[in-house]
Amino acid sequence: MLKRCKIKVDENTGRFLKNGQSRKKGLNRAISDASWGELILKIEYLAVKQGKVVIKINPKHSSQECRNCGHIDNSNRDGEKFICTECGYHEHADIGAAKTIRDRGLFLSTGGLPGTCC
Ligand SMILES: [Zn+2]
Repeated sequence: MLKRCKIKVDENTGRFLKNGQSRKKGLNRAISDASWGELILKIEYLAVKQGKVVIKINPKHSSQECRNCGHIDNSNRDGEKFICTECGYHEHADIGAAKTIRDRGLFLSTGGLPGTCC
């Protein structure tokens, strides 16, 4: 989330071009200032208060993983579109990623036993 923008160089003159980093800098500061650790503590506190369980899920590759065949590839995702390069399964990338995270949570909540989720 806090990555810097890629540098753009004019091929003819060799000079640096605007790449939007100055705008991204403000966004990065806002993200860093959001106190994510405190947010997690508040969520955990409220969950305990209501008798709920909080499961932290690693979102790595969740938007690049095919929900149909499990193939993970960066080229599966094109902006908001998800199209699997192996089986052709397609879906909105963010919705598919949310479902993948949900399934990972269900898998962990059932003790990680194969065939007990989804
Ligand atoms: Zn697939």
